[in-house]
Amino acid sequence: MKTLAAELAFFLRGQARQNLKLLILYCTFLLILVLTYSGLFRFLMWQLEGREYSFLTGLYWTVVAMTTLGYGDITFTSEIGYLFSTIVTLSGVVFMLILLPFGMISLFLAPWIEQRLRYRPTVALPEDTQGHILIFGFDAVTRALARKLQNRRIPFVVVTGDHEQSLRLEEEGIRVALGNPTDAQFLRNLRVAAARYVIANLSDPENTNLCLTVRSLCETPIATLVGQLEHGELLRLAGANHAIALKRLLGRYLATRATTRGALAHVLDSFGHLQIAEIPVQATPFAGQTLAEARIRQRTGLAVIGLWERGRFTTPDAATRLSEKALMVLAGTREQLEALEQVTGEEEAEDLILILGHGRIGCAAASFLDRRPVPFILIDKQSSSDCLDHVAVIGDATSPHVLRESGIDQAKGLIVTTNDDSINIFLTLASRHLNPAIRIVARANREENVDQLYAAGADFVISNASVGASILNNVLEGKESIFLTEGINVFRRPLPPNLIGQSIAESRIRPLTGCSIVALERENVEEPLVVPPPETILEKGMGLILIGSPEQEENFCRNFRG
Ligand code: ADP
Ligand code: ZN
Repeated sequence: MKTLAAELAFFLRGQARQNLKLLILYCTFLLILVLTYSGLFRFLMWQLEGREYSFLTGLYWTVVAMTTLGYGDITFTSEIGYLFSTIVTLSGVVFMLILLPFGMISLFLAPWIEQRLRYRPTVALPEDTQGHILIFGFDAVTRALARKLQNRRIPFVVVTGDHEQSLRLEEEGIRVALGNPTDAQFLRNLRVAAARYVIANLSDPENTNLCLTVRSLCETPIATLVGQLEHGELLRLAGANHAIALKRLLGRYLATRATTRGALAHVLDSFGHLQIAEIPVQATPFAGQTLAEARIRQRTGLAVIGLWERGRFTTPDAATRLSEKALMVLAGTREQLEALEQVTGEEEAEDLILILGHGRIGCAAASFLDRRPVPFILIDKQSSSDCLDHVAVIGDATSPHVLRESGIDQAKGLIVTTNDDSINIFLTLASRHLNPAIRIVARANREENVDQLYAAGADFVISNASVGASILNNVLEGKESIFLTEGINVFRRPLPPNLIGQSIAESRIRPLTGCSIVALERENVEEPLVVPPPETILEKGMGLILIGSPEQEENFCRNFRG
């Protein structure tokens, strides 16, 4: 059934889709022709022979004549009638028996067979291949990673055991190899020993098997995504250099966004001594002030490089007011961040977080809050058999009654984390309605639903795929710790040669791409220049550290190639 659906899907893509439109147009023409003939048939029969026939009979006669069946049960007896019958039969031969099958074969059958015959999956990479990344298992996370790699022009190959998938990916322009990932000879053919990294994104047992096979051949580093937390240790034993428990990280991330308790700055990225961190404005004494009034740089040395609110990242100026619901993105040293944390010190008197969904992600969020400690209430429609640490309220969160009973009116934060995006959207909308002031953090299982979740009233949306991809990307870049960013990318690029000698203002990086320069790295100087003024001249050998949304990063790549 799956293969049939996949084959049918062929006709909905590219040229075949155009041809399908043509076919529909042609069939409409045939239908009009048949209707016209039946009308004429009835008219002529009445006028020439005085016989009256129903509409259905007219249709029946036309089809029988056009398909050359000619039963002969209804016939004309006049000359003009004979002529009409001949025309109908001849046009039937041309339009129905010649052109239609010919079109079907040349527009659909032939291209389909040709595509089948032409496709030869890659089963080995050229011998001199090196520095490539091998990705085993293609899903939303690795798809997002592939986009990042394409932007940075890092060569990668997706490895799959599924013929259909390899065909699809090839059509999308993604390099793909087909074979059994635990076959040592196949791995040799993929030049695994010369690869830069292996990303294992299969099931836990398959990943383990893959790690062991790779290790029996070479020392290429392996990063693997772990499904079940307990399996991390086994994967490391099998040879994985990084076993990333994505669900746990996501849970923690959701939790840090839902509470301001303690208000520790959440480090997004670091470049040497320079750290990029975010902190909720609500947790600082600066809420409601303008950037000029807050004097954050004077008080702490930190530069405010962005504000992030409801999925929109903006670069503030002195007059920008710091809204309570926003996150500030800051750049500075660890010490400076600690100085800020001193100012923010104050703990919230009463904090209560509701967590909707006690799956692995919800559970990880709960464990994180437990340790802080922040009071929380878990709600799930069924009791969890995996978790012995938490007691959840059993009830369907889509019922306002359950939410009210659990105390949504008093809650400060809400984490929406079921595995169904339409339920998450519904829950976000319903909760926003019940408590307009609550801070809502929602999980998007599919990238496409991020916008809808924001529209439904979420303050932060965290997408599994893009967080997973940033984590993998950080691992590939060799960052010491795993940072999480979502919606904001901090990235480093060598200064494009055509910008040498220009000032930052002249380079027009921000107007062209939307990205802002966070810092400039200079040759032989350890400390980067944080938030350089627009008149700073860009010199040869400098490195740019930029910040922007994923689209803005793509803009930068497009505008400043090479
Ligand atoms: P993950 O492990 O990725 O977090 P799960 O599918 O294990 O994903 O978790 C989703 C959880 O959300 C499940 O425990 C499910 O019972 C719960 N859930 C789904 N819909 C509702 C709902 N309407 N009300 C309460 N809980 C729900
Ligand atoms: Zn739990």
